[in-house]
Amino acid sequence: MATLEESTRDVVYANRILDMENVVDAFGHVTCRHPDDPEKFIMSRSRAPGIIERSDIMEFRLGGEVIDQRDRVVYGERFIHGALMEARPDINAVVHHHSHAVIPFGVTGVPIRPILHMGAAIGPDVPVWDIRDNFGGTDMLVRNMDQGRDLAKAVGDGNVALMRGHGAVVGGRTVREAVMLSVYLQVNANLQAEAMKMGNPTYLSDEEIEKCTETFYSDLSADRVWEYFCARAQVEGL
Ligand SMILES: [Zn+2]
Repeated sequence: MATLEESTRDVVYANRILDMENVVDAFGHVTCRHPDDPEKFIMSRSRAPGIIERSDIMEFRLGGEVIDQRDRVVYGERFIHGALMEARPDINAVVHHHSHAVIPFGVTGVPIRPILHMGAAIGPDVPVWDIRDNFGGTDMLVRNMDQGRDLAKAVGDGNVALMRGHGAVVGGRTVREAVMLSVYLQVNANLQAEAMKMGNPTYLSDEEIEKCTETFYSDLSADRVWEYFCARAQVEGL
């Protein structure tokens, strides 16, 4: 089991990595369930992911209540994270991002599907959540627990949902898994869009998806990916 210090480090690294890999820009965020209290999570104060430091990390209850706010501004969309952790005890880390690559798949009815082995973990049926279905005309942001829970319901027992005209939410058993899946969701989206321009892509079969997902999350693969991402993002010492 990770310590709070390790979880804090992972959340900082994850923010820097997702910025380096262009999954996030000034917006987007990463959370980890509190290692000592499953009813809480940790997250940065409201800040662009690429400049987040350990001192920015704060604690929240799953309902989004801030533990020790002082004068710090918090993310308006923190409800995405708590609601998904509330619904899914197996999910201990959540990434929310606005990757441009996934947007077309959320607005056209063209499903995003695993097209390469490293994209298998997005699963065979990635749902698209549309905030308008139950909340009408909004500014598209997830601003309360009702909206967060509705989104979590769309995620179901998978690990990804696209958010129409907005971005995506990605869950993982660990911060590393949520980061890997976020990066390769974007890779899959870019390659699928390219392949569709050339013709009808051959997608991974359900059997391939299952086997590739197991390999993707194996220690051998996950350790190697994390070490590489950390080096690229130059997180050592943060
Ligand atoms: Zn957002």
